[in-house]
Amino acid sequence: MENCIFCKIIAGQIPSAKVYEDDKLIVIKDIEPKAKLHYLCIPKTHFAYFTEMDDDKAETLKYCFQTIANIYKDLGLEDGYRVIINQGENGGQTVKHLHIHLLGGEVLGGF
Ligand code: 5GP
Ligand code: ZN
Repeated sequence: MENCIFCKIIAGQIPSAKVYEDDKLIVIKDIEPKAKLHYLCIPKTHFAYFTEMDDDKAETLKYCFQTIANIYKDLGLEDGYRVIINQGENGGQTVKHLHIHLLGGEVLGGF
């Protein structure tokens, strides 16, 4: 997708601190961490919004969640972490390519 910063990161056109990659997703460190550890799990197929969910996209998300469950210890998140998807304007979504935030490495404040 043209002009999508995460598509450019996936394509290697913009550098990133990549901590995991396979054929379907990458996990990178967030450039402006909001916790001691802050990762972004980004599916390689571009879709913008959680609200676009269909069977294919649900499969993609399922794969993301399963992969996170497999690698969280390698990321230093063994003591727990927070999973966040910001959706749309009110949700604070700034990048229009669906991604899952993983926050941890410390005790996080409540909502
Ligand atoms: P959103 O606000 O859309 O849920 O999250 C976007 C996240 O992407 C933000 O936490 C922001 O810091 C991060 N981000 C934006 N641009 C870049 C970038 O070029 N590289 C990395 N690693 N993270 C980015
Ligand atoms: Zn994209």
